[in-house]
Parts: sequence; C-alpha cells; structure tokens
Amino acid sequence: MVTDEERAEAPPTTAEAPTTPEEAAARVDQLRETIERANRLYYQEDAPELADSEYDRLFRELVELEQAFPDLQTPDSPTLRVGGAPAAQFSEVVHATPMLSLNNAFSHDEVRTFDARVRRLLALPPAPEPAPGLTYVAELKIDGLAVSLRYERGRFVQGATRGDGSTGEDVTANLRTIESIPERLTEPVSVEVRGEVFIPKLEFARINAEREQAGLPLYANPRNSGAGSLRQLDAKITASRRLAAWFYVLIERPPEGTESGAAATVATQSAALDRLEHLGLPVNPERRADLDIAGAIDFIERWREPRHRLPYETDGVVVKVDDFVQQRTLGLVARAPRWAIAYKYPPEQVETLVEDIVVYVGRTGTLTPVAHLVPVKVAGSTVARATLHNLDEVRRKDIRIGDHVVLQKAGDVIPEVVRPLAEKRTGAEREFEMPATCPVCGTGVLRDEGAVRHYCPNLACPARVSQEFGHFAGRGGMDIEGAGWIVLRQLLERGMVKSRGDFYRLTVEQLESLDRFAKKSAENLHRAIERSRRRPLGRILNALGIPQVGWQTAIDLANWLAEQLPPADGEPMVGRDGWLARVSAFLRETAENDPERFEQVPGIGPTVAASTARFFSTEGTRDILDLLVDAGVEPERPAPRTLAAGEGPLTGRTLVVTGTLSGFDRQAAEEAIRAAGGKAGGSVSRKTDYLVAGENAGSKLVKAQELGVPVLDEEGFRGLLAGE
Ligand code: NAD
Repeated sequence: MVTDEERAEAPPTTAEAPTTPEEAAARVDQLRETIERANRLYYQEDAPELADSEYDRLFRELVELEQAFPDLQTPDSPTLRVGGAPAAQFSEVVHATPMLSLNNAFSHDEVRTFDARVRRLLALPPAPEPAPGLTYVAELKIDGLAVSLRYERGRFVQGATRGDGSTGEDVTANLRTIESIPERLTEPVSVEVRGEVFIPKLEFARINAEREQAGLPLYANPRNSGAGSLRQLDAKITASRRLAAWFYVLIERPPEGTESGAAATVATQSAALDRLEHLGLPVNPERRADLDIAGAIDFIERWREPRHRLPYETDGVVVKVDDFVQQRTLGLVARAPRWAIAYKYPPEQVETLVEDIVVYVGRTGTLTPVAHLVPVKVAGSTVARATLHNLDEVRRKDIRIGDHVVLQKAGDVIPEVVRPLAEKRTGAEREFEMPATCPVCGTGVLRDEGAVRHYCPNLACPARVSQEFGHFAGRGGMDIEGAGWIVLRQLLERGMVKSRGDFYRLTVEQLESLDRFAKKSAENLHRAIERSRRRPLGRILNALGIPQVGWQTAIDLANWLAEQLPPADGEPMVGRDGWLARVSAFLRETAENDPERFEQVPGIGPTVAASTARFFSTEGTRDILDLLVDAGVEPERPAPRTLAAGEGPLTGRTLVVTGTLSGFDRQAAEEAIRAAGGKAGGSVSRKTDYLVAGENAGSKLVKAQELGVPVLDEEGFRGLLAGE
C-alpha cells in the first residue's frame, strides 16, 4: 500500500514539468482538451474512460500550471467551472444559490494547510494555538450525483441535478421514485435541501450483471450508474433501480406570506444535519461534530479501512467549518467554498505481474492493448485484466510483458496499471509492439496523423461487426428485447443478418431455426423486432455507432436535425419519400459539402463534428441510414419544434406562482409554465416577468408590487399559457 506521505512526495505528474511559457501553454492546451473530454464522458454520458484518480492528477497539474503561469488562465478553464452543462432533453432549473464543487486534499498536510488558511482568514491564532470558537464537522464524502430539492410548505415540488452549478436538469419525476426521499416533510416548511443520490453497492452489481447479459457496456462505477439511473427521461427506468440518498445541505427560506429573514432556525452545519434528519430526510449517521483539525484527521483515519464494508461508495471525508457566520466570512473562490475541504482517499494499490499484453479490437475498430495479469484482489474484487488504453500510454508508463507492476482501483471498476517496478526487472521482459495487422481479420492496421489510436479499417472485420450489431440491437440503440449475444452470434454466423436492415426482414420461421428456439420464443423475438422499428431519432443515431458519438451526443444531434429539417405537415416518417430518408440525405450532403456545420450542434466540438462527417462521407457507412429506411424503420415524430427546444408562449420568461389557484396546485402550475417554455422561479426579483397570484398571496405579492413586476390572476395566467 502506498501511504499518504509517499503520495504527497510523488511528483505531481509523470511527464516532465514544463519550464518555458511555450511548453506550459502547449501542456495547458493538452490538459484542457483531455479534461473537457473526460468531463463530457463523465457528466453527459455517465461513461468515463479515465479512472478518477487519473482525472484528479491531471486536474491538479492544470491548476498548478495556471498558478505558475497566470497568463495562461482563461475564464473558460475547467478549473473554474463546476460539472457539465445540463443535457438538452431535460427542462432546466436555475439554482437560486449556486451548487459548488469542493477543493480536494490528498494528504494530512493539505488538510492542515486548509486549517491554517481558515484560521488566517478568520483572524484566529495559527496552530498549535487553540482557536476559540472554531470547530469542524466531518462527514463521509458520498460518491454520488449531487441534487437539490425544493419543498414548499413541506411538500416536495421540484428537484434538479447540479448541472454546471448554476443551472441543473429537472429530474423531479425521477426523484419521486426514490423511496427514502419523502414526499412530505414532518413540518410544513419551505426549504431547499441538497445531497447526494447514489446507488448502493449491491444494486450496482445487480444492474451491471443485467447489462452484461443484455450485451450493454458496463457502468464504470456506482457513481456513474447512479447518475445514469437518475438522468433518465423515463422515470420508470429510475424506479426500477433502487437508488438512495443522503442529504447534507439545508437552505431555509421564509414561508409564504411572511417577511423574509424570519426563517433561519439553525446556525451551524451540525445543527442543519440534525434538522434535516428531524424533517424526515435521510442523513448519513457517520458524522462527527465539535472537532479540531486533529480530530478531523482522526476521523479520516478511522474510516480509511472500514469504509470498504459500508453498503455504499465513499471516496473521502468532507471537513467543514461548523459555524455559518464563519462560513460566510470565509466565502467562496471560483468553484468551491473556502470553508470546506474534501479529503480523498488514495486508491488502494497492490502489486502483480503482467503475464501478457493482448490486443482487442473494439466496435469502432480501435485496437486496445490490455494487460493480462496474475489475478489479485484489490478494493473488494479480483482483477485479472486492465486496459492500457493505447500504445502511447504503454510507452509513457514503460510497461513491458513480464513486468511486476503497481495496480490500483479507486472505488472504480476500472483498474489501472500505475507503473512498472523497474527494480524487479530480470532482463527477460519484452517490449510490447502494436501488431501491423488486425489480430482478428489480418487487415493492415492504421493510425491517423496526430491521433493516438491504432485501428482496423476493415468495416467487415468480424470483431467489429459482432460488436456493432450488439450495440445496434442493444438498449441504447434499437432495443430489441431478447437479442442478446447468444442470439446475435448465431444470426451473424449463419449469415441471417448481414446488414442492420436485415433484422427487420427475419421471419418467425427463420428465428425458429435458432438453437433452443421454439415457435413461441421465435414469435416473441419477432414481435420485439417489430416493436423496435419505431424509435426516437436520437436512439436510431446512437444505434449506428458513429465513433465518438455517445447517447447524449446522439440526442443532441437528433434535436438539431429536427430543427434544421422539421418534418413537413403530413410527411410520412418512413419510406423512401419519408423524413428519415431526407435526414439521411441531409447528413451525407452536410458531411461532404459543409462538414464544419456539425460544429453548430450544441455540445459537439471540432473532433466529434469531424468524426460525424467522416462517418457520413465514408463508403460503407455513409448510406447506413438508407438501409434502415428500406427496412421500414420509423423515427418517432419529434415534438413540435417550439416545445422541443424549450420554446413556447413563455420562452425566455420567468414566472413565479404564489397563493392558491383554483385550477392548479403549485406543482401543476409550475409544470404548465415549463411546458410552455418558461421558467418557474422560486422568489420574486427584478428578473421575474410575471407573478401569478392566487388567493391569500402574501409577501411575494408585496415584493412584486414594490418592484413593479406585472401580476396576473388565474385567468390572465391561462391566457398567457394559451399564447394570448
Ligand atoms: P468532488 O467529487 O471532488 O466533490 C465535490 C462534491 O462532493 C460536491 O459537489 C458534492 O456533490 C459531493 N459531496 C459528497 N458528499 C458530500 C458531503 N458530505 N458534503 C458536501 N459535499 C459532498 O467534485 P465534483 O466537482 O463533484 O467532481 C469532480 C470529481 O469527479 C473529480 O475529482 C473526479 O473524481 C470525478 N470526475 C471524474 C472524471 C473521469 O473521467 N473519471 C471526469 C470528471 C470528474
């Protein structure tokens, strides 16, 4: 095991630290690109490629370079931002108080440095002097998805993800399916509460086992599977996964009809935790208040080992200044408060031996070197393989066949080979070479200029084909129930399916000929195939397996296409004269004549745009949608543009609802506002466009009148919704 002290001494990066401004600028660009990509995969697609510890290392390197070369700081750097932008298919929720990230500490010394800064800013004596009035609370850091929930008069009305910190995604319906989140609090108070939604370890194992059977890619860790489960458009999927939550932030708001300022009942974080519990919300019992910094470090040490036996993932301990007045004095910087620090446990490390490095061919033809290891137990499971990503990575880390290596796994499922133990080399180790030809089909391997990946360009390579078809029929794609690996392999091997369109030409009789199939099972599969003919365009695009385009990007692309190319009135969706055929021609034309236009798709940058253009201009894939057109695949008609893009009679308007309306309860009124493209605000400010006031409206009405915000009664509100 590597201790904290060793870790603190380890150089922050394995690459040479840049010394000149030019070198630093180049490295900063490289780091930002890698971090942006990692953010997109982690926050948008819930499918990271990097281990968290590797991400943290790169992030820290960027922070340090920006500090050493302040000229390189830019306002859009990922070091100044929180999370990722909310996904387009959810309604947005603007957070009244921003949701922040936390600064990290990786050693005891860094925790003590945090204490020293807190003391300095609060004008308290430096350690080891006592610091009167300063105490800390220590809480376990839950590795989940941060959410914020609003309760009005004790009733749950709206819940959102953190998103980019100022705007999150509306996941109210999904949160309602979580059993431990109460619909009503024990008191009729209006509060905002924040915490972490997570997936218990056992449930995570169950979901991944299910995904493996269905041929779907596995979730990397419980955090990503929790996030993926909550960020579902269909709340039924969320409900089918047993999510849980712990809360740790309480924001009190004055109850309706009273003057502001009358609300605060708690003055410390520890009291807030107790109060949350009292209100009926789940609060993690593993917490300690009244600590000095040595006590906080004790707490960190006490949980280092036993945390593995908790039924949920924790990746560290959050140490917070308890007193709210002190918290306010300390304030925030950029993306994190100065009054808290997140100590992150190092990933558990073990030693093992690389028996071989084997090349695997992926769905998009990428050749990935994978280390076959002498199996070892690490962080609760046995690891026998670890991806080495690409040849550059193998060379950068200098990992050879026969090497003793350090292997680590954070809470993650993704194990990582950290470094070779060069001192244990005998001279018998062999350097790994990328094969010149594809290990599966023998086609010459290519590597594009400037790119790190080697790939097999043969679109008919059996390794590629079987995985592509698995992806096509899988849940993220056309979702053909019952078309798992065993069935697919037979369909491909027997030549019953040669192109994606062929699925839709299979007959019940043909299906009956599959191993262990009878009439009934063949009919079931046939029906499932028929059902899958009709899917949203985003799914259809995702099913195609465009390199670099994951499900989220596919949805963004589909929304954009529906805007560029709205289906005409009465236009069929299916067939050669239908909308899908038009979409197919448009994609080809854009790819050939105006490839940069794909950069206009929200969320798509130059790399993904180029990859999309390449896909729709390359022989073999450019006409792929036409195959589906001919097979009678039918995209669902996109919602009318106005509403799909969050537009409607209330686009760009913020409305606040107060008092009792006869035809709507509060939640229904807010939903109606959002459905009409508007935003439902929680409090009246100069930015409010209208206040909808029902009976017994209180302080909000007074405030609106003071600020000159137009006030509507229920009839006026209905008129506005109808676009009058
Ligand atoms: P963070 O994980 O370092 O911690 C901040 C978050 O911790 C808070 O926003 C809050 O949601 C949460 N939290 C959990 N328990 C808490 C408690 N008791 N009190 C207060 N907050 C608590 O930062 P982040 O901004 O959420 O995410 C960045 C991290 O995400 C990175 O450090 C990395 O580990 C991971 N990440 C990984 C990749 C990847 O590719 N692997 C990409 C992006 C981010």
